[in-house]
Amino acid sequence: MSKERKNNKDKNKEKKGRNGLILILVLLVALAILIGLTVYLMKNQTNKDENTLAYTDLIHEINNQNVESVEMTTGSTTAKVKLKNEEEEKTTIVPNVESFMDLLQTKVEEGNEIELIQKPRSIISQLPSLIISFLPTAIMLALFIMLFKMQGLGEKGKVYDDTERKTKVRFDDVAGLEEEKQEMMEIVDFLKRPEKYTKMGARVPKGVLLYGKPGTGKTLIAKAIAGEADVPFISMSGSEFIEMFAGLGASRVRKLFEKARKLAPCIVFIDEIDAIGSRRTSNSGAETENNQTLNQLLVEMDGFGSEETIIVLAATNRPEMLDKALLRPGRFDRRITIPAPDLKGRLEILKIHSKDKKLAEDVNLESIAEDTAGFTGAELENILNEAAITATKNKHEDIENEDIEEAVKKVTVGLEKRERKYSDKDKKLTAYHEAGHAVVSRYLPTQTNVKEISIIPRGVAGGYTMYKSDEDKYYISKTEMQEKLVALLGGRAAEKLVLNDISTGASNDIEVATEIARDMVTKYGMSDKLGPIDFQGKEPYEMQMFGENIGDKIGEEVKELINAAYNRAISLLQEHRDKLDAIATELLQHEKINEEEFDRFFEE
Ligand code: ADP
Ligand code: ZN
Repeated sequence: MSKERKNNKDKNKEKKGRNGLILILVLLVALAILIGLTVYLMKNQTNKDENTLAYTDLIHEINNQNVESVEMTTGSTTAKVKLKNEEEEKTTIVPNVESFMDLLQTKVEEGNEIELIQKPRSIISQLPSLIISFLPTAIMLALFIMLFKMQGLGEKGKVYDDTERKTKVRFDDVAGLEEEKQEMMEIVDFLKRPEKYTKMGARVPKGVLLYGKPGTGKTLIAKAIAGEADVPFISMSGSEFIEMFAGLGASRVRKLFEKARKLAPCIVFIDEIDAIGSRRTSNSGAETENNQTLNQLLVEMDGFGSEETIIVLAATNRPEMLDKALLRPGRFDRRITIPAPDLKGRLEILKIHSKDKKLAEDVNLESIAEDTAGFTGAELENILNEAAITATKNKHEDIENEDIEEAVKKVTVGLEKRERKYSDKDKKLTAYHEAGHAVVSRYLPTQTNVKEISIIPRGVAGGYTMYKSDEDKYYISKTEMQEKLVALLGGRAAEKLVLNDISTGASNDIEVATEIARDMVTKYGMSDKLGPIDFQGKEPYEMQMFGENIGDKIGEEVKELINAAYNRAISLLQEHRDKLDAIATELLQHEKINEEEFDRFFEE
């Protein structure tokens, strides 16, 4: 093991020496190109001069009715002019496009026969001039980047991550996810002893798709596989493949796999694969570019056989968006869902990430795990980091429970983004909005009790209502989802009811509610009218089999759910207006209400 590491180091030294030579070569070649280009461009420029027409001369020609056509591109100041007695087009730089267009318009209206051609702005048409003006800078930049890269000083992780180095991450660093790890062990084994599998004639896995929300540890587990198998980890994010210039994405894919073949056996990790692998539906520019990139990826994956031990892991949060071609056998034919951690998982994640932190005696990780249902691993890690910062700010010896609770709030409320200045009017609005959420959920059987309400601005939020966290649930019933909608719309309902006006403060609530309602109809088949059908991620032609205006019907059902919930929130608040007023008043006075104080309002 240690010997191997040493060998690697020697190899690296050798590489550095060779890199020096290559660098000098590249510099020389680049210099030659630069000189060549400058000469060429200068020549071209002079050629061009013969084809330009001074603006004053152009006006003169227009007045003499000697102009056949003028072509302008939106956003550009160059006009292409065709004179009546000449074959070739001339170009003119227009000092003031607006007044020039006005002039042309008037001339045309006066009966002058000038053909006006207005072209929409396109990157391609501007490309030549862009290239000419930026070429020298671009070449210099490219040289610098090359220089940096070769010396290993390039921005690490931008294109390739951990390429030369092997990752130190092991399965032990991944908390929870026991079954998933078990499944991954097979891949590790395959990377270590591929011949064992090929001898048996087994078709080895090529691609594994990891489905899950951001921050659930998909990258971490991919790294751990590489770490366990002791193979290099090459990674790239799907969004990096999407480029303005056609073909670049595809060439990046090619390079990525070139590299992988050199380093095999290895792991290739593509994050956000939906950015390149989303369904090929339309033919717009970006889509076509995506297709090229996607096609290249498919070609690469089909290309390597069992003799090359490369495993491609890809992560996405939106499996329904993926092009079906990616999922065919021999490509990403294995799919593993990475769920948000359950109670036990959260506790383990908290333990792992607090290992190198000083925790006070009073810290109870179990109760923090209980309070953070639905949190991802990344969020939990973030909470512990925040807690360490808070503890430092509070001049605590070590991280106390109160620091962690503060951090939990920071992270949860930080997710709700409500930007607002804080006048007295806003304060009242916030108080009623939050009281609205709290009172409504109190009367909804499936909703958990309120833990804290506050109208102290926190982060970008004006106020918040925190609920006691629910025990982990695998299934959520329709009733529960309906009541969740009511609780979410309780804020807006209170604003409407009390102030007879509504604010932007509910935008996040509305966003969440709309998403839930949409999922109820299109994903969970909870609409009585439409039945248990999955409408999500269907191609237009697939949707057609459900009838002509299925889109309208889905919209109707979503609206129905939202409206029903909103009306129920209104009537609950009307019925319990005394509680709403009392709690809002208390909030205006003390800005904060805790669980006990809240419960007291409902004792009779
Ligand atoms: P994803 O790729 O799913 O967006 P990451 O793997 O990048 O998520 O996770 C971000 C960070 O969150 C990780 O670096 C790790 O610190 C933490 N994390 C997430 N899940 C876990 C887990 N199961 N165990 C330990 N740490 C985790
Ligand atoms: Zn709200």
